[in-house]
Amino acid sequence: NKPVPMLEIKDLSVSYGAVRALDKVSFAVEEASVCAVIGANGAGKSTLMKAISGLVPVAEGEIRLEGQPIQDLSAERRVTLGIALSPEGRRLFPELTVRENLLMGAYLRKDQADITVDLERIYAYFPRLLEREQSQGRHLSGGEQQMCAIGRALMSRPRLLLLDEPSLGLAPAVTLEVARAIRQISQDGTTIVLVEQNARLALKLSQHAVVLETGRLSLSGHSRDIMNNPQIAAAYLGHA
Ligand code: ATP
Repeated sequence: NKPVPMLEIKDLSVSYGAVRALDKVSFAVEEASVCAVIGANGAGKSTLMKAISGLVPVAEGEIRLEGQPIQDLSAERRVTLGIALSPEGRRLFPELTVRENLLMGAYLRKDQADITVDLERIYAYFPRLLEREQSQGRHLSGGEQQMCAIGRALMSRPRLLLLDEPSLGLAPAVTLEVARAIRQISQDGTTIVLVEQNARLALKLSQHAVVLETGRLSLSGHSRDIMNNPQIAAAYLGHA
């Protein structure tokens, strides 16, 4: 008996008017694993993350969280069920401090007493955020913004964390810092879907991966196998 996956996507299609951004995409993500989503610009990766979090409507198909269909629920309801998105572009509140931005991620929670514990957990993943606790969002570096966006998503205590392009625009050393935290978050039991342009990084951090090509799933499997697939290497991994 296979356990019920944390996330199951079945024949999922999403359209923007006449543009079909996702076309009958199906895959599953096991609990406590990391699933990488790779693909070129415009392949539909962000659309997939938005569809899972309820920010774009589903045209067809099903999204299940631990077996429960969620595709008709509001984005807020999905947060309370345990889904959190760290969006592409980070989208912090520029006038709010790091601490205030993090607290925004907890606004739907009832157990406000535990919030300090969670803040401490996030500062343990990202010690830089503690140093910058009282700085406004607009004064943060790109890497600090990314850490803050991931931390804010964690403040809702998600069981499923969606990370959209966490390494985008970051210097290599900062990318490593973020990657280390993602690995730690996963080891602590949070299931993660990781969208990345940096396919090499995504495949290193994940156990499973799916490849999107113009809205369709072209390949899925173990990250190690996908990394060793010559076509994938040529298309997404460059040389090195
Ligand atoms: P990127 O890495 O550039 O963000 P992506 O793989 O995340 O790419 P999406 O942003 O999901 O791709 O876009 C998938 C397709 O849907 C593209 O053809 C894009 O032009 C189109 N699209 C995305 N958002 C909208 C929108 N709000 N209105 C119309 N078309 C859209």
